[in-house]
Parts: sequence; structure tokens; C-alpha cells
Amino acid sequence: MIKKFSGFLSGCLSLLLVLSTLIVQSHAEAQQQAIVFTNVNVVPFDRERILAGQTVIVRDGRIAEIGPAEKTEVPAGALQIDGRGKYLMPGLADMHVHLYPGAGAPDDLASQQLQLFLANGVTTIRNMIGKPEHLLLRDRVAKGELLGPTIYTAGPPLLGNNVPTPEAAERIVAEEKKAGYDLLKVHEGLSPEAYAAIVATANRVGIPFAGHVTATVGLKRALDAHQTSIEHLDGYLQALVADDSPVKPTGSQVVLGPVLEHIDESKIPALAAATRKAGVWNDPTLTLFKLVVSDATPEDLLKWPEMQYVPAKMRDAFAKQKQSTLGDPAPAAERQRYISLRNKMLVALHTAGAKLLIGPDSPQFFLVPGFGTHRELESFVEAGLSPYAAIEAATRNPAEYFAEFMKTPRDFGTVEAGMRADLILLDANPLQSVANLSKRVGLMVRGRWLPESELRKMLENVARLNASNTQGSMGKADFSGTWSLDKANSEGLPPGMDQLMTVVVTGDKLSLETKLITEQGEQVVADSYTLNGQEVEFSPKTPDGKIGKGKRTAKLAADGNSIDVVEQVTFDSPEGAVTIQTTRKWTLSPDRKTLKIDMTIDGPNGKQTLKRTFIKK
Ligand SMILES: [Zn+2]
Repeated sequence: MIKKFSGFLSGCLSLLLVLSTLIVQSHAEAQQQAIVFTNVNVVPFDRERILAGQTVIVRDGRIAEIGPAEKTEVPAGALQIDGRGKYLMPGLADMHVHLYPGAGAPDDLASQQLQLFLANGVTTIRNMIGKPEHLLLRDRVAKGELLGPTIYTAGPPLLGNNVPTPEAAERIVAEEKKAGYDLLKVHEGLSPEAYAAIVATANRVGIPFAGHVTATVGLKRALDAHQTSIEHLDGYLQALVADDSPVKPTGSQVVLGPVLEHIDESKIPALAAATRKAGVWNDPTLTLFKLVVSDATPEDLLKWPEMQYVPAKMRDAFAKQKQSTLGDPAPAAERQRYISLRNKMLVALHTAGAKLLIGPDSPQFFLVPGFGTHRELESFVEAGLSPYAAIEAATRNPAEYFAEFMKTPRDFGTVEAGMRADLILLDANPLQSVANLSKRVGLMVRGRWLPESELRKMLENVARLNASNTQGSMGKADFSGTWSLDKANSEGLPPGMDQLMTVVVTGDKLSLETKLITEQGEQVVADSYTLNGQEVEFSPKTPDGKIGKGKRTAKLAADGNSIDVVEQVTFDSPEGAVTIQTTRKWTLSPDRKTLKIDMTIDGPNGKQTLKRTFIKK
């Protein structure tokens, strides 16, 4: 008994010893080497100014000290980063993000997205539609298990269909709070009663709410309820319609048509002041709506360099979204007026002291995580704000937003002692131009220094993960299906031949099973192509069972509607090696019901051309 007890005790002791070693180790890790930026121009974003010749000391993930270089001692053994001629500013926050699915397994979509943000200097994000896995992602980043921007996440969206009644609102709001989400996303279709119940419950349980202003709720109710942030400038243009207008706005977020003639711009300052008074913040998603109404074609937009960093499926979705706006566009003057009114409203909000946030709503409508953040900053400047005001909406403002609504001390968004060490080191002054935000030397995220070379590697990694289907684009065709030979429209068929093909395309892999029926009988041949344009070796088999040596490249055309396969096969024969060169071009008809395969076979017997047509079954 005693023995057993002492055994148990020593077991406990050794466990304790192990634990305490772990604690010491992790403490030692936290007490990491100090990192010091020397002689740097600090752009603190507490107000519009630059502090030249500073020493900035980072320790344990926080800014420990800032002071003039001549008065601030660099700790012994610190890693020094030469800041001469460079600018140190806070990392960016992107306040309207949609996280991909995933909990951050290596190279899963969510982890790719985190890399895209970091590679663009984004060190904080607000996820505007959350799932349980995003809570996990948030916590893993916070614990340092995963490198990424600090995450705040909304819960699943509150929509008219899932929150039909005040009772449902009470239940769902309480559930989302209990699940640990940071805020609620109010979305489309809510009734005024359901919205009121969301507001009351959110205030009672203590969770902020932000999001759309659906037409049924209207801007006045959202301001009265102190919705923490309004996305997309929802409700503003509708509120500017003259009181005596004979035309009423529709429920659409995009305000076009005759109602535009009845916008009363003299209402703008009062509306901006009311927003300021209500303490409601705005994330206008300017770029998104400019893209929605622009004349740019999907093909134009797919040429943006950042398209290489998203999956082909997403590019297709972007293209479809844009295509759907091009059918019957409103007159150009109307669309310009719509955009200019949004820009005027934004400037008026800023002038009135209402707070603004940068959050482009990526990934949607050609807005790629991180890259979209920069496009939105450009849009703020284009609308008439200074670079300082624009960048403030992506640094200090978001930090104040969370401090105010989460009731926590503000701990990022400015370069000051005590702040989380989320910093961007630039080669150029960001207050001169927001384009200078891309002239990075490196990024610090939670005290971890990532030189630009490392950020480039992240981008290359994400590009590589999506490269297998970079050829996929607008209207990418899918060759999958069962195809039967259309003999009447084929040339060079041996007598009595028939053919049935089953094609399955997954990612860049095309698998193919061909049933050949000839006078000699039936034969099934399986094959597969990797459609990435790279040469692969394979071992072809002749009908009489000989194994040869083959090289092949298969490539999906940029429009996604055709495939080129080039093959060279060598067989041994009694007369010596025989080489046959084959090309095949697969072309899908626009209605995708007909597949043509044109072949050339160049071998010892000369060159032959064959044409096959298949009909989808
Ligand atoms: Zn959104």
C-alpha cells in the first residue's frame, strides 16, 4: 500500500518536474532575444507626424521602449535591424474579411489566407462570418501555435431566414455569445422586430453587433441602436433621397436608376453628424462597389497579378459575379453618380469625425486577401482622404474599435511602448502615398520579425499551391462526363470502330477510360493527364503488349476550353527503335455538349490526321 502510494507520489513528482521544466522553457522562449530597430523614422499614428532617428526596442512580443537614438541604449545581445532611411509604422488591420474554411492545418485554405494577409502587412483581421473552426484558428494564433494576424471573429450571420422572430434572435444571440464569438454579424432580411431583439439581447449578454443595414431595418434604426459598424455604407444613399421624392429607393445595396435624380445632397452633413453622434463606425467597402458597377470585364480583372494566389474555383466565382453585372448595365453617368455619392458620404463622415475602417470584404469580387486591403486604402485616397486618414482607418481606428466595443485596453494600432509588436518597416514614407505601403523591408507580427524575403516565400508557397490550376479562368470548361463517338462527324475511323469515353476532371488531373470496340473485339484503356503543361514520363503499351518509353505534356488552354497533349513514344522493334510523335487537341463546344479531338500521328508510316467527334451522353 505504502509502496503503491510512494510510487504514485514519485509519479506525480516526476510529472511535476516535467511540467515545471516545460514552464521554464516556455518562459525562456517568451524572454526572447530583444529586437531593436535602430535610427528609424517612426510613423506612430497617434497623430499625423514622423519621429526621426528613433530606437525601438521589442521584447516578448511587445514594444518595450521607444526613444531618440542618442538617448536609448540598445540592449546587449539584441538583434539589430538598421532603420536608417526607413519608416516604421503599425501593422495593418483588415476589418471585413471572410475566412476560408479550415483551422489552419499546414497549407489548408485558411492557412494560405493567413499567409496572404501577412505578406501584405496585415497583422489583425475581423472575420465577418464565423464558424466554429475559426474560433480554433483565432485561439491557435493567439497562443502562438500558428503564425498569422490576430483574429477577431463574428459568429454565423443573423439573417431573416434563421432569425425570423424575436424569440429566435434571443436564442441565437445567446448561443453565439456562449460559443465565444467576438461579435455578431447582422445581415440581410431581418425584420425590425428581430433586429430590435438582437440589439436588446446583445446588449444584455455583452456582445457587439455589426454588419449590414437591411432595407427593412433602415439606417435610422441602426444608428439609434448604436450598431458598432455599418458595412458597405448600407442605408446611406437611401437616407439621402429627398423627402418629397416621387421615386422610392429599392431594397438594393446598389442605388441606381431614376431615384438618383432625387438625392438631396444637402442632407449629407446632417447624416454624417448623426453617425458621429451615434458613435457608429463605417466600413464602406468602396472598392467592392466600384468593381460591381465598373465596365471592366472578368477577363480584364482576372489579369490582376494577385489572382495567382486564389484557387481557380474562386476565380471562376469572381468571373461569374462580374459577368452577372454586365448584362444590362445602367448608363455610365448613373454609375459614376452612384460612386461619387458614396465617396462624398465617406469624406463627410470623416470630416464630421465619424470613425472609418478599412475592410474590403475579401475574398469576393476579385478582392484577394491582403491585396484587397491595399486596394481599399487606394480607394479611400481616391475618394478624397489623405494617406494619413486612410491608413489611420487600417491601424489606430480598428484598435480603438475593439478597445471600445470589447471593453479591453487598446494594445495595437500605434507605435508606442506597451503595444503589441505588429509593425511594418518600409523603404518609403507612407504619409506621402499609400502605394508606399508596398515598399516593405519586412514585417513584425507579435514580435516575430519576418524580412521581406520570408514574406515573398509565403507568397510563392501560396502561388504554388494554386498553380496546378492557374490556367483555369473565366468560364472554365469541365470535360467530365461520358462521351460517345459521333461517327458521322469523325474522320479516319477504321471500319466497324466504336468508342465510349468516360472523363473525370479533378483539379488539374484528367482521368480517362476509353472503351474501344473494333472488329477484333472490345478493349478498355485507362489513362490520365496532368494538365499543368509539364513534361511527364510514362510507359505506353502497344495493342500487342509491348512496353515503350513515353514523354508527354498536357496543358489546359488559358480559356479553359481546350487541352493540348503532345506525346513522344519510342518502342523497340526488330528493325530498331521506332518513335511516334502524337498531338491531340481536345476542344469543347460552347454549349459543352460536343467534344472534338483532333490528332496527328507522325511515325515510320508518315503523318496521319484523325478527327473524332464525341457527343455528351
Ligand atoms: Zn462581407
